[in-house]
Amino acid sequence: MKYKYLLFDNDGTLMDFKKAEEFAFEKAYKSCGCEEFMPYSNNVLKLYSDINDSWWKKLERKECTKPQLMVGRFADFLKAMNITGIKAEALSEAYPKHLSKGGFLFEGAKELVEKLSKHYDIYIITNGIGFVQESRIKECDYYPYIKGVFISELLNAVKPDKEYFDKVLSIINAKESECLIIGDSLTADIKGGNLANIDTLWFNPEKAINNKGVTTTYEAAVYNDILALLL
Ligand SMILES: [Mg+2]
Repeated sequence: MKYKYLLFDNDGTLMDFKKAEEFAFEKAYKSCGCEEFMPYSNNVLKLYSDINDSWWKKLERKECTKPQLMVGRFADFLKAMNITGIKAEALSEAYPKHLSKGGFLFEGAKELVEKLSKHYDIYIITNGIGFVQESRIKECDYYPYIKGVFISELLNAVKPDKEYFDKVLSIINAKESECLIIGDSLTADIKGGNLANIDTLWFNPEKAINNKGVTTTYEAAVYNDILALLL
């Protein structure tokens, strides 16, 4: 392979973000005293998840801002639960603190990174809140095998913008042709690669259809396919 550098997305590619979200919500719910009104259960989680999803859809339609989403989802949740006396701000403050402890790797992710690290320099490219991503990544098992982490908030640029990848490449002093982006998101990772003229490997465990008008260089449904391609 012609590549020297592998730029790995984190969430949905190496880490289970859904699990981290559920973990953080449960911890925030309990630490803010919500259990005085209703013990934590899957129904409570389902109610919050639906409200959370609807806020993310609002954000996509540009009907709210990210800070409004951060608090608004908890305000709606408390209202739906008929919980009074607990502030949405308390939940929205507790949530990212717990999220920062939620570094759950997919099975085989550490071994994947470890094996590839013998042949390539590996960097993590991730959108998200600086302290949350930094702590999740530094405490996880793949950390000893990577060379560095690029978090959008700290870089002042986000995937898929070309500016984000330009900054990453200039810091590691790499040419576009020496890099391969590996990620699960067509709109963040693969589109980013297309915009920045970097080859991409779409990690697609769901075997979804590419309907976003982007071009993938390679595709893999399981980690072994990635290893077969790159080793
Ligand atoms: Mg991802």
